Amino acid sequence: MCVFCYPELEPKQRVIMSNEYCMFVQLEDVQTKGCQLEGAGLIVPRQHRETVFDLTKEEWMATYDLLQDVKDYLDRNHQPQGYNLG
Ligand SMILES: [Zn+2]
Repeated sequence: MCVFCYPELEPKQRVIMSNEYCMFVQLEDVQTKGCQLEGAGLIVPRQHRETVFDLTKEEWMATYDLLQDVKDYLDRNHQPQGYNLG
């Protein structure tokens, strides 16, 4: 079972923001200032997809849009020196 389809499997997981097709999730631990993975999170589609290659065009576009919003959020809350996307 997948922790994004079954969020109860990971009680520390929080949906920070979302749009029609995808959501940005973080573990509550990464919200601590100065922790090693401060600000790290995942954008995942609402519908279960095995790999990124299974995303629909709409999901790709929604991921792009949400990424811009997530960057604004992280810039405001964590002031990162840069970003790693994977
Ligand atoms: Zn899933």
